[in-house]
Amino acid sequence: MDLSQVTSDDAKKTTSNIVVFPVGSTEQHGPHAPLSTDLLLAKSVAEEGISQFKGEVIFAPPLPFGISEEHRNFPGTLWLSTQTFRNCMTDVLNSFIHNGWNKIIIVNGHGGNIDSLNEVCADITRNAIKPAFATTFTWFNYSNDLPMGHAGEVETSMLLHLFPNMVNSNMISRANADSGDIWGPLEQGAKMKYDVDEFTKNGVIGNPSLASRDFGEKLLKESGKSLTKLIEIVSKLEVS
Ligand SMILES: [Zn+2]
Repeated sequence: MDLSQVTSDDAKKTTSNIVVFPVGSTEQHGPHAPLSTDLLLAKSVAEEGISQFKGEVIFAPPLPFGISEEHRNFPGTLWLSTQTFRNCMTDVLNSFIHNGWNKIIIVNGHGGNIDSLNEVCADITRNAIKPAFATTFTWFNYSNDLPMGHAGEVETSMLLHLFPNMVNSNMISRANADSGDIWGPLEQGAKMKYDVDEFTKNGVIGNPSLASRDFGEKLLKESGKSLTKLIEIVSKLEVS
């Protein structure tokens, strides 16, 4: 049940108590990919995972903002402060629980959201208004072996497969030429730079010229399958 498409009466009738809630961000993704990349991919993986699940889930409207201040020097980037993001997530999760939907899976598309989402999910699971369980599925973490980067091979492949018209293919070789290799330098394991423009010229980490539609199709299938498995596991949990 897609909450954005139904009436309140429809929502009342659902027998499901599992929510899938995509969360993304609005932030630069280099010269070739849209600001909405993280949102589009989180939503698409959520839809793929739900489509393979044999049962009903509640599909919540996606949140387009996240913790993206590190991209602030690239125009078009929008963000919430860490504190506002956590409060926003806590309020939305509590409203699911008030409706009686107490098993919550956040499908996340942005690395910068991960720490806060894990904290919010732990807090909700321990202290919510009614017994509940919440967890975060960051789609590109379904495997440890992906050449992730930022607007690199992985995200660009997914976009080429799902939203080819949103990729500016003419810019891909330049995107690669000016990209960075690593996400922020460390000294003795400690972070030394916080803003993305301090370690990449054009906002890209990794190599988007290696991207392909075939790889994007594979990524969508595999991440969707992994999410379906998680929904099955969460659906069987005893939450009391
Ligand atoms: Zn991204």
